[in-house]
Amino acid sequence: MSSGLAELQRLEREHVMATYARQPVAFVRGEGCTLWDDEGRDYLDFLAGISVLNVGHSHPAVVEAVREQAGRLMHAGNLFYTEPGMRLAERLAERSLGGKVFFTNSGAEAVEAALKLARKHRPRGEIVVVHGAFHGRTYGALSATPQESKQAPFAPLVPGFVVVAPEAAAVRAAVSERTAAVLLEPVQGETGIHPLPIGVLQAAREACDSVGAALIFDEIQCGMGRTGTLWAYEQVGVVPDAMTLAKGLGGGLPIGALVTGRALAGVLEPGDHGSTFAGGPVACAAALAVLDVLDDPALLERVRELGERLAEGVRELPGVASVRGRGLMLAAELAEGGAPELVRRALVEERLVLNATGPTTVRFLPPLVVSEAEVDDALGRLRSAAGLSVAG
Ligand SMILES: *Cc1c(COP(=O)(O)O)cnc(C)c1O
Repeated sequence: MSSGLAELQRLEREHVMATYARQPVAFVRGEGCTLWDDEGRDYLDFLAGISVLNVGHSHPAVVEAVREQAGRLMHAGNLFYTEPGMRLAERLAERSLGGKVFFTNSGAEAVEAALKLARKHRPRGEIVVVHGAFHGRTYGALSATPQESKQAPFAPLVPGFVVVAPEAAAVRAAVSERTAAVLLEPVQGETGIHPLPIGVLQAAREACDSVGAALIFDEIQCGMGRTGTLWAYEQVGVVPDAMTLAKGLGGGLPIGALVTGRALAGVLEPGDHGSTFAGGPVACAAALAVLDVLDDPALLERVRELGERLAEGVRELPGVASVRGRGLMLAAELAEGGAPELVRRALVEERLVLNATGPTTVRFLPPLVVSEAEVDDALGRLRSAAGLSVAG
């Protein structure tokens, strides 16, 4: 298979549902922070498949783990035991909340599992979410994603969601004896990288404790080392009762997980939930290899250092009003807008892969194995692209 971009665009036009706004580039290979297109041009990737390639493209240890497991056993199903899933559950639980794990194939499915767990924990209970949240596109996850444009065409949604401002007082006021769970992203991702104030997370923790509701963190984007600690919650000193993972967990393979603390570990019982592919040996072997790479204090410290270097450099670029985020999960707010155009120029003219989360916001999610030289290279390319934008 070696079809060029034009042919792929024709195939998409004729046969693929038009749900994505794709950039006009076809990638054929990746290594570390570099991608190559169908004409052999190299690109510097500062998006990492939206925080999926945290270990970089085709990390040798992940490739080897996948190759080895795929050659031995690709699937047996959850009616039987396979070792990678059991080992991965042990590793995730022991390295985080200490309870148990339910595996899924995606982020949205991990959120669905969390919602089912919350409702089983407190029957018919409400789920409290905040404005600016993104939890996925399936019905339950979409119902937890209070964005008019995403929800409106698909009404009616799942009932029982309460939406409040991401403020401590609002969260406190929304939580009552009827609340099953408060679901929060410690750093909101899809809506433009907004770290929730620690006071909001603390208020949610206290409110949940006072009524026996579950505090659930969605770490699908901000987990897996992205913010400079393996889990984002480690930096804010607020420990949730459960968290959802996906994106970076499989190093490029689809896998998600709901991880609980001890208190909620027994809520889901035989027959309550399931998934044919989830916890399969290949995806779990990949995730174990990913954790070997990312759960490394030296790498995580570098994420924090390089995050600061990138943030400082971006802050000095023409047209940038402010930079926010944690670790290598950053966004630049542009004074005059034009983020999609800047992203397009960076890609086409400078071969730098980025993403705009809105008209004024450029998102940076480089692989966590990025080097200082690559950070400086990206800043240089961005400076050129910004100059081009200014020059029109
Ligand atoms: C991407 C994302 C999801 C959805 O994950 P999918 O794998 O696309 O279903 C949910 N929550 C957060 C915070 C995300 O960033």
